[in-house]
Amino acid sequence: MQSKRLKKGDTVKIISGREKGKTGKVLKVEGDKNRLFVEKLNIVKKHQKPDAKGKGGILEKEAPIAISDVMFFCNKCEAGVKVGYRILEDGKKVRVCKKCHELLDA
Ligand SMILES: [Zn+2]
Repeated sequence: MQSKRLKKGDTVKIISGREKGKTGKVLKVEGDKNRLFVEKLNIVKKHQKPDAKGKGGILEKEAPIAISDVMFFCNKCEAGVKVGYRILEDGKKVRVCKKCHELLDA
């Protein structure tokens, strides 16, 4: 399943859409919706109605990005890469960069 390849805390590169080319940290993954949220990317401004104290204004919030529009960002390759899997000697399944084979779950 594609969506399992990325998780919270990963650094991803945006490969499509208005944030194309930028990198950021994954805040949240919604695998069932095939989307995720990336820190400070795809920001939408929401107008908030003034509350009882008269405070209102513009709220900035991350909007979801389609998982298909991002790639894992490999620090070694300095590029968006495909994620593969490797089973370690102790049986643990870890993610690896398909390009440089660096472990991504160190
Ligand atoms: Zn790599």
